[in-house]
Amino acid sequence: MTDRVTEAVAAPRKGAIEPGAPVAAGEIPLCVPHLAGRETEYVTECLASGWVSSVGPFVTRFEKELAQYVGVDHAIATSSGTAALHVALLVAGVEPDDEVVMPSLTFIAPANAVRYAGAWPVFVDADSRTWQMSASDTDRFLRLECERDTAGVLRNRETKRRIGALLPVHILGHPVDLDAIENLASEFRLPIVEDATEALGAMYRGRAVGSTGRLSCFSFNGNKLITTGGGGMVVCGDAVAARRARYLTTQAKDDPIEFVHNEIGFNYRLSNVLAALGVAQLEQLSGFVAKKRAIAARYASAFADIPGLCSMPEADWARSAFWMYTVLLDRPEWRDLNGRLADVGIQTRPLWQPLHLSPAHAASPRRPCPVAESLVARALSLPCSVGLTDDEQYHVIESVRGAMTARPRA
Ligand SMILES: *Cc1c(COP(=O)(O)O)cnc(C)c1O
Repeated sequence: MTDRVTEAVAAPRKGAIEPGAPVAAGEIPLCVPHLAGRETEYVTECLASGWVSSVGPFVTRFEKELAQYVGVDHAIATSSGTAALHVALLVAGVEPDDEVVMPSLTFIAPANAVRYAGAWPVFVDADSRTWQMSASDTDRFLRLECERDTAGVLRNRETKRRIGALLPVHILGHPVDLDAIENLASEFRLPIVEDATEALGAMYRGRAVGSTGRLSCFSFNGNKLITTGGGGMVVCGDAVAARRARYLTTQAKDDPIEFVHNEIGFNYRLSNVLAALGVAQLEQLSGFVAKKRAIAARYASAFADIPGLCSMPEADWARSAFWMYTVLLDRPEWRDLNGRLADVGIQTRPLWQPLHLSPAHAASPRRPCPVAESLVARALSLPCSVGLTDDEQYHVIESVRGAMTARPRA
């Protein structure tokens, strides 16, 4: 899992954990899977059927039921969310040496997917109110830092590369303000690929995230809201795009009998065993979202009177899935809060290094993203597993309160 690699490099920082990893007794994990439904039953059924590979009734059922939940016509299961993003970018028409506009403040996977497509990510800043991709910085980039060439192709003024797509990422369970991004996409005639991997179950202006019909991607990695251990999904409303996505995920097979392939495809299918897990998880999704929202509401009311602590935002046009509950700490003491909470068995995690500062993407165009930097400097994610008990959350709240009002450690 990509997230684990990041964590392994960051280890052994105190309080840092592998998402979805088993935790010591008495510890309160950051965010672990909740396997309390029919997982064992379906996986057993899958094994008994002999259909364990990338074709089988659970794959078909998982695709159909996820499409239904989101409210789109087509869904294609993939081996990971990153694979889903790679394929979606190709289907959207992103070509080698294009640039793809995406937020700096996100997990690195979507930027890597852009590079797999041979294109380059261009990072825009975060919105200080929602922490999501800033429509105004996207506007600034497209309007002031790009121009149309004589053939009418939109290019980055500096690099001269074509702008291939917009890639909004709905981070931490909250939607991006998509209307503003959509207006820019239509004005500048750019396709949109949505990274909805952290926002399954969230709503944007009354519609499920991923329901617009545009190419959108989900992840079922171990730390996501529902998990297959590892897996992803591309969804869209267009039959031609869906057929192309499925073709690319299955080695671009044109003649299954004679093994004729007209293009280079990928082995990106999800196995039937994992899809069985996915079907069981999906049955519990509505309950999971309700639990995440209850955890968020409890944190928000408990923290309301702590000076220097700012709760996770929810815009009035959004219904967040609160996938990863995160707070901002405005006082200097916060720097040892991570360690203080680890001392009492509470796992926490900072947000990701902003991608415009990532050594892995140092060759991409450089733009300033001061809001992303400021948010990351102050952010801390708190335990928010679906299985978090009231007692555990009370312990977290009291420990945060204690640490925030204690004197800094010598
Ligand atoms: C988890 C995640 C992904 C990738 O998902 P995998 O299934 O781990 O490949 C992509 N984008 C974001 C923002 C993520 O958090």
